[in-house]
Amino acid sequence: PYEHMLKIREQNIAPSLRMYYKKPLLLHQGHMQWLFDYEGRRYLDLFAGIVTVSVGHCHPKVTMAAQKQLACLWHTTNIYMHPSIHEYAEKLTSFLPDPLKVVYLTNSGSEANDLAMFMARLYTRNFDIICFRGAYHGGSPYALGLTSIGSYKHGVANGIGCSTTMLPDVFRGPWGGSNCRDSPVQTVRRCSCSEGVCHANEQYIEQFKDTLNTSVPKTIAGFIAEPIQGVNGAVQYPKGFLKEAYQLVRERGGVCISDEVQTGFGRTGSHFWGFQTHDVVPDIITLAKGIGNGFPMAAVVTTKEIANSLAQNLHFNTFGGNPLACVVGSAVLDAIEEDNLQKNSKDVGTYMLLELAKLRDKFEIVGDVRGKGLMIGIEMVTDKDSRHPLPSEEINQIWEDCKDMGVLIGRGGLYNQTLRVKPPMCITKKDVDFAVEVIHTALEKHMG
Ligand code: PMP
Repeated sequence: PYEHMLKIREQNIAPSLRMYYKKPLLLHQGHMQWLFDYEGRRYLDLFAGIVTVSVGHCHPKVTMAAQKQLACLWHTTNIYMHPSIHEYAEKLTSFLPDPLKVVYLTNSGSEANDLAMFMARLYTRNFDIICFRGAYHGGSPYALGLTSIGSYKHGVANGIGCSTTMLPDVFRGPWGGSNCRDSPVQTVRRCSCSEGVCHANEQYIEQFKDTLNTSVPKTIAGFIAEPIQGVNGAVQYPKGFLKEAYQLVRERGGVCISDEVQTGFGRTGSHFWGFQTHDVVPDIITLAKGIGNGFPMAAVVTTKEIANSLAQNLHFNTFGGNPLACVVGSAVLDAIEEDNLQKNSKDVGTYMLLELAKLRDKFEIVGDVRGKGLMIGIEMVTDKDSRHPLPSEEINQIWEDCKDMGVLIGRGGLYNQTLRVKPPMCITKKDVDFAVEVIHTALEKHMG
């Protein structure tokens, strides 16, 4: 069956959907943090279907809720009422501070970010949006304009990258590859902080002001940022940076959008939402991935005033907020609470960061270990001084070896140099011991 699947893949599935590994995995089953291939081999899933399986593969509670709803009602569209969307909107917003209380359900993170930008423009009557280098906000043509990672950009007939030409109003703000950051693990390079002042932050704020002063009109529509950059490999900003950036944006009439697609739902451990770690309250947040534990659903949550700006006309999508999605979303929120998963993210994530930091201290090619909770990046470098990315072939071998030993890890970073660890939040310390041992063995083999 394996060869047959590969043949179908080649003939009938779009080639832009690239697969991981020299011998791609054919997976049949999942249970919590574990995946099983067609030959019955078991893998510890440290990537969770790209940071999506939040509470565990086929979590019994979520599965049961979906099964019950499947036998009852699948779809109505929002031209009628059904109880589950009301229950879900109420439950989801109970996790959010005022004034983030109005929910618009969509089907993917890209769609949510498209809508967030649309709302920002309608509300402010301005056009320009600011985003960061290294950001990933989606693959739809509109959201792709915000995505600032070269490998996702496609050339077009005139030879200009399409994502920049489609949205000329998107500017590349500063990038927060900071040493002074909110993580249990600090870099081997120290930030030049003194007397409580973070100089990295000052430098980034100056660059951000410069972008605002020179690249955009006096008034802007909005600013979008991930609280921790996900696809870029758990890149964090200097402490205090995002808070100051929010203030500067608001002074120019813009609204602040927090892309919580990866950082939401307890993943960062210390808080339920990523923005809370920066001590800010955004005007709009976008949610996807972990919201449905793998069920395709997403959301935009905003204030009444901003939501009203969209109400002047119809704005509609067919599937968003269908009964099945809402029931799944509710069960996911229940599972996070009942299984204590935010706390688990914090405890197990901190444990893992500290264990991985030991590998960083031992191996020259592990340049950085960073992140918060269960959102971790391991940056691979040629050496700690230059911090040049380790060539891809070398990282590939380490990563393939981990897979062969039963551990699946993600990839990311501007140079694809970072291993991304973002498992289902039900992972245990025992699993971490196994994973770290496997990574250790792969690194030792590499060093010969
Ligand atoms: N925002 C972030 C931070 C993401 O990581 C992603 C997906 N990687 C998206 C938006 C887009 O989500 P989707 O793939 O569901 O469209």
